Amino acid sequence: MKLFSNKGRLRLKGHKHLTSDVPVRELDLKKVPFVYFPLLANNAKPITPLVKEGDLVKKGTRIALREHMYVPVYSSVSGKVVANKVMFNPGLGRPCPHLVIENDFKNEEEKKALKVLKDNPTKEEIVEAIKEAGIVGLGGAGFPTWIKYNGVKDIEFILINAVECEPFLTTDYVTTITNAKELIEGALLLKRAADASKVVIAIKKDKEAAIKALNQELTNYQDIELRLVPDAYPMGWERTLVEQVFKRTYNNLPSECHVVVDNSQTAFAVYRALKEGKPITERLLTISGEPELIKDPANILVPVGTPVSVVLAEFDINQDKPLMVLNGGPMTSTALRTLEVATTAPSGGYTIVKPIKQRVDNCLRCGECTYSCPAGLQPVEIKQAFEARDYERLENLCVTKCVECGICSYVCPSGIELTDTMKRAKSLVWLRQAQQQKKEK
Ligand code: SF4
Ligand code: SF4
Repeated sequence: MKLFSNKGRLRLKGHKHLTSDVPVRELDLKKVPFVYFPLLANNAKPITPLVKEGDLVKKGTRIALREHMYVPVYSSVSGKVVANKVMFNPGLGRPCPHLVIENDFKNEEEKKALKVLKDNPTKEEIVEAIKEAGIVGLGGAGFPTWIKYNGVKDIEFILINAVECEPFLTTDYVTTITNAKELIEGALLLKRAADASKVVIAIKKDKEAAIKALNQELTNYQDIELRLVPDAYPMGWERTLVEQVFKRTYNNLPSECHVVVDNSQTAFAVYRALKEGKPITERLLTISGEPELIKDPANILVPVGTPVSVVLAEFDINQDKPLMVLNGGPMTSTALRTLEVATTAPSGGYTIVKPIKQRVDNCLRCGECTYSCPAGLQPVEIKQAFEARDYERLENLCVTKCVECGICSYVCPSGIELTDTMKRAKSLVWLRQAQQQKKEK
C-alpha cells in the first residue's frame, strides 16, 4: 500500500530489515577466477586499456583510463591480463569489449597505488588526488567526483547523502555504521576541496544504529552536523534532499545554491584513497529480494569486476521459481538480461523479484503520474510526445529533467510502464541535440 507523504514523495516499504543487521560477508577470492572491466563507459565514451595481453598486474595497478572526464581504473586482483571479452554492459545497454584479468589468487597489492596526501593539503591537491584515484559517485550515478570540485566557487555546504531511499539496498547504512570516522574524515576533505564552511550529513530518521555511530564520532569534530530527514521516496535524490535540508532550489546543479552533494560511500572512498593510498578495488553489494526467492540475503564485499553470476552463486536462491534479477533496487533499476555482467564501482546491489506480469489498461487521464513526479514533469504527455516522435514537444516538456525515479510507473493505476519511456525519450532528445550541435559546427 502506498501513502503519500506529500506531492512528489512516497512512503514505500523499505525491506531494509532483510539485510541491515545481517553480518557482512566477504566473497572468497578463490571463487573469482576472472574479473572484467568494460572498455566503453555508460555514455559510450571509450576507456583505453593501459595494459596488454600477458602483462602481470597487482591489486591497485592502474589498468585503464577513461579519457573523457579523466577516470583511471585500477585492477581489483593480482594476476595476468588475458584476451578481451565481449560482455553485456547494463550501464551502456548493450555488449562491449571488457578487459579481463585472470586472478593468480596471490592477492598481491601495489605498495604505492596512490600517493597519500600530506597534512593540510590545498584544495587543488585534494581535487588532483581525487582525480588520480578515479573516484566516481558511489550512489549509483558514477559521475567523476573531481569534476564537481574542480574550480568550484562560493560553496557554503557539502551535503553528504546517507539517505539510501531505494528499497532493499543497505550498503550506505552498513558502511556508515562500520566506518563512521572515515566517512566523516572523507567529508571534511571534500569540504576543504570546495572551500566550504560546513558539512551536513543527511540520513533518514529511522536509521538508528547509523545515527548513533555518527553521533559518537561527531563529538570530536567541528563544522559538521547531522540532519535527520523523513522516510520518504525519493528523499535521496539530490534535488529533493537539498530542498529538504536547506529549503533551497536550483535549475541544473546544486552548486547554483552553494551546495555540493556527495554520497556517503563516496566520502568514505575519498578517505581511503587520499589517506590510505587505496583506490576503489572492492565494492559492498546488497544481495536481497523477496523472501520466497532468496533465503539468505546479506551485504557482501566483492572485488570490482566480479561477474554477477559468481556473486549470486554464494546465495541460496530458489531456482525452481520464476524470478528476475534487478540491477539495483526495484524503483530505479532494470532487469538483467544475463548474469554474465561485471559488477562496477557504482553498483549498489542486486534484487531478486518475481517477474512482473502487469495488466495494462488504457490511460485514465487521472493525473496521478503528474501529481506524483518529484521533478514536476508530465509523464503521460511525454509518453504521447515520444510515441509521436514530437521532439520539440519533448524538449518543451523538459524530459531531460527526469531522474528515472520510477514513481510514475509505480503510481499508475493502469499499469502503464512510464519510466522506461521517460528513459528512452531522454536518450532521443540528447541524441538529437548532439546531432544538431554536430551540424552547427
Ligand atoms: S521517472 Fe521521471 S517522469 Fe517518472 S516520476 Fe520519476 S522523475 Fe518523474
Ligand atoms: S497515472 Fe497512468 S492512468 Fe493516470 S494519467 Fe498517468 S499514465 Fe494515465
